Amino acid sequence: MSMTYGPKSAVRPDIDAVRSQALVCTKCRLAEGRTQVVWADGNLDANLLFIGEGPGFHEDKHGLPFVGAAGQLLDRLLGEIGLDRSQAAIVNVVKCRPPGNRDPLPDEIEACRPYLEAQLAHMRPDVIVTLGNFATQFILDQRIGITRARGRRYERRGATVIPTFHPAAALRGGRFGGTNPIDAIRADLQEVDKALGEAARARQHQGANAVGIEDHGEQLGLF
Ligand code: URA
Ligand code: SF4
Repeated sequence: MSMTYGPKSAVRPDIDAVRSQALVCTKCRLAEGRTQVVWADGNLDANLLFIGEGPGFHEDKHGLPFVGAAGQLLDRLLGEIGLDRSQAAIVNVVKCRPPGNRDPLPDEIEACRPYLEAQLAHMRPDVIVTLGNFATQFILDQRIGITRARGRRYERRGATVIPTFHPAAALRGGRFGGTNPIDAIRADLQEVDKALGEAARARQHQGANAVGIEDHGEQLGLF
């Protein structure tokens, strides 16, 4: 199966087939140390996508992203904007745990790219939240640090991209550019809530216009 779901691809992949491939993937060295491939959690048909870095210890054991302490923080902050995992998809840039939780290497990110590209092409989400440097640089296609990227909106792949701090970094504490990182994530999620509302209204508006055109057509047919 060819995997050419690039940013400009209009093809919607057979996501279950791609998932089946991913679950037995050995395209990079991260296959050696993993317990299992961590594909996704939440709803891959949602309008909202969170992208993390890679599975950690607990994710590797459970087979689901963001089930450890960082995931619990993410769930709590999501709850504050009235959302849970049934209303968002959660994935990582690399689907297998890097040994000792080291950073994923550039060739590992490239080897794993087709899976995230397929997830993006399948979902075509309204809003993408990139958690930390790796996801942010992957989606923005730009070497930019998270402290500089966050607090802004970007347009990529037909989606509004809202970078924010990785919840694990926020849990480690410290101040990033003078702000408390948990408060920063909170503020960024307020922006996510707004962007979701805007996208929903835009879709409704487009739907209403399409109905208007049809009605007009029918009316013409009557006379
Ligand atoms: N950190 C990540 O980036 N992803 C996970 O799934 C868990 C922790
Ligand atoms: Fe395959 Fe991605 Fe796992 Fe590497 S990290 S083995 S590319 S699924």
